[in-house]
Amino acid sequence: MSALTIRGLRVSVEGVEILRGVDLELHSGEVHALMGPNGSGKSTLSHALMGRGGYVVTGGSVTLDGEELLGQPTWERAAAGLFLTHQYPVEVPGVRLLDLLDAAAGVDEVALRAEAQRLRVADDFLGRGVNVEFSGGEQKRAETLQLALLRPKFAILDEIDSGLDVDALRDVSRRIEVMSTEDGLGVLAITHYSRLLTELRPDRVHVFMDGRVVTSGGPELADELERSGYEGLAEGLGVESLRVTVPEESDPFADPGF
Ligand code: ADP
Ligand code: MG
Repeated sequence: MSALTIRGLRVSVEGVEILRGVDLELHSGEVHALMGPNGSGKSTLSHALMGRGGYVVTGGSVTLDGEELLGQPTWERAAAGLFLTHQYPVEVPGVRLLDLLDAAAGVDEVALRAEAQRLRVADDFLGRGVNVEFSGGEQKRAETLQLALLRPKFAILDEIDSGLDVDALRDVSRRIEVMSTEDGLGVLAITHYSRLLTELRPDRVHVFMDGRVVTSGGPELADELERSGYEGLAEGLGVESLRVTVPEESDPFADPGF
């Protein structure tokens, strides 16, 4: 039994505090859903957990089985058992998916093809450049293929449901559900739709707003969200801001005024 423990995590990006004290604890075999509106800091959390550059930790701790991950390079976090599926997977022309999987997981080709078949990743995708000209569904199938072969202890899924059609959503979420029940994978599923959670049944649901968890509950919390929306829920909780407010001078997309 493993534990991923996040305590009081505070993170700034370009001098702006985005995460304002995040507390979460996951165990092997558990599925936790992290739901929150756009701009609430969900992707920032996933990047900070994985150690992406430019994300400055100003407080708190993240431990995997008691070992501090903060300060470790990304590859060491991965070796410790942490895995992230990206919201926007990066294209890597010239590196075949097959070679990436071979280098990262060292799997034999028979096992790889069996897993690919299970996830309905077509054979010719294995020989293509990683994510190059993949559709949204193909990207997320490929991410899930890496997850299934690398067998980490914990997987953070950053909107694995975005850009997926219903068939791909079902294949991907069912495969992850089996990893959690049969292989003890712990899952943090970031999403803003409850649709994902009908296949990937969460044990716990956390609602994220303005850079922190504002409330947690069982699966019924996702149903409540579906009914009341984020604004309705925020009002009921007395939470004032849904999103992280970035000062205009540090917002690269702000109106330049000319
Ligand atoms: P979510 O994934 O919940 O939609 P994000 O974590 O992507 O939210 O973003 C949260 C806030 O942090 C947003 O206001 C966004 O503009 C800001 N932010 C994220 N990354 C950066 C960055 N690299 N530079 C400046 N602001 C950023
Ligand atoms: Mg995001």
